[in-house]
Amino acid sequence: MIPAKAYAAQNAKSPLAPWSFERRDVGPDDVLIDIAYCGVCHSDIHQARNEWGGATFPMVPGHEIVGTVAQVGANVKKFKAGDRVGVGCMVDSCRECAQCKADLEQFCEKGMSGTYNGFEQDKKTPTQGGYSDKVVVTQDFVLSIPDNLPLDAAAPLLCAGITTYSPLRHWKIGKGDKVGIIGLGGLGHMGVKFAAAFGAETYVITTSPGKAEDAKRLGAVGTVVSKDKDDLAKHAGSFDFLLCTVAAEYDPGLYLGLLKVDGTMAVVGAPDKPLNLHLFSVIMGRKTLAGSLIGGIKETQEMLDFCGEHNIVSDIEVINIQQINEAYERMIKSDVRYRFSIDMKSLAA
Ligand code: NAP
Ligand code: ZN
Repeated sequence: MIPAKAYAAQNAKSPLAPWSFERRDVGPDDVLIDIAYCGVCHSDIHQARNEWGGATFPMVPGHEIVGTVAQVGANVKKFKAGDRVGVGCMVDSCRECAQCKADLEQFCEKGMSGTYNGFEQDKKTPTQGGYSDKVVVTQDFVLSIPDNLPLDAAAPLLCAGITTYSPLRHWKIGKGDKVGIIGLGGLGHMGVKFAAAFGAETYVITTSPGKAEDAKRLGAVGTVVSKDKDDLAKHAGSFDFLLCTVAAEYDPGLYLGLLKVDGTMAVVGAPDKPLNLHLFSVIMGRKTLAGSLIGGIKETQEMLDFCGEHNIVSDIEVINIQQINEAYERMIKSDVRYRFSIDMKSLAA
């Protein structure tokens, strides 16, 4: 076994604190990664605080992992020591079911192995995430990070990037579409960058009027303030597509009213409580309310390559691991521009 250092939650109420544990030895198909940075996703908070239920502890959160390869197993052909690599929200899946064969491992019929707060495919060995100095992952779930992308700002691509890229691709968003990205946080700001890069007329729909200038800088043509009735009325019935990244309770009808006839709102934000939806919001205008979950491994690599070609990374605030609990509180207050990226060197401090 390989000794590893981390920050972990010991239970749903405890702040994250230093913890030592062991990673598995490097098997023939495994890659040992020295973690350089790990992004902080709102899902880390939901899970460390057991807001979605079923959490297992101790829990080392973190699924926006980047670093360099330290060692590879005998069968590993795709990677060698020194390569710049990443790991996202999954570390394995059954690889045999229809979904895995269709490159949709996130929907593996036997259940994918989440990077943390989950189990390996033996369904009993707990997985531990990226708020840690190293990780061992089977080669098929390791991604390559393009050379031109800085590692600290590339980390959030592994979750916030793919989670917004995938639905925008699935619904074929591009030139001629009026798109609204709801919530300008970690996911939202990547959604804006991608929608704009795909040629869509992109708006940010926000509760924070102070983010309007940033929205433009990120590629949006305008902002709709969701607390402003006049602003909502001005844009009512005008959007082709909405991508909702909101992490807290909200009124979905408010946003569905912004869609055109036959428009779609895809949700990726995963608040802990069920929302109250009046079905007239979709009946009137034959609207679609849809969902999306991260993206498959093949599409994640495609997204990373697209980011390499277009020089797209996340806007980050680099923190030390010792600031993680404070970072969570700031994130809950929507006070992050726009993703925390943890410098894992700080673990040694
Ligand atoms: P985040 O950085 O905290 O961003 C969420 C944004 O939502 C905030 O910045 C804020 O933007 C807006 N917001 C917050 N409270 C709101 C409220 N009450 N009403 C309306 N808007 C509100 O979080 P994130 O890391 O982007 O994650 C967002 C959500 O996606 C989380 O629930 C996370 O678990 C989920 N997620 C899902 C997937 C998936 O595969 N489906 C993957 C990753 C994450 P404004 O200030 O602009 O309003
Ligand atoms: Zn995430």
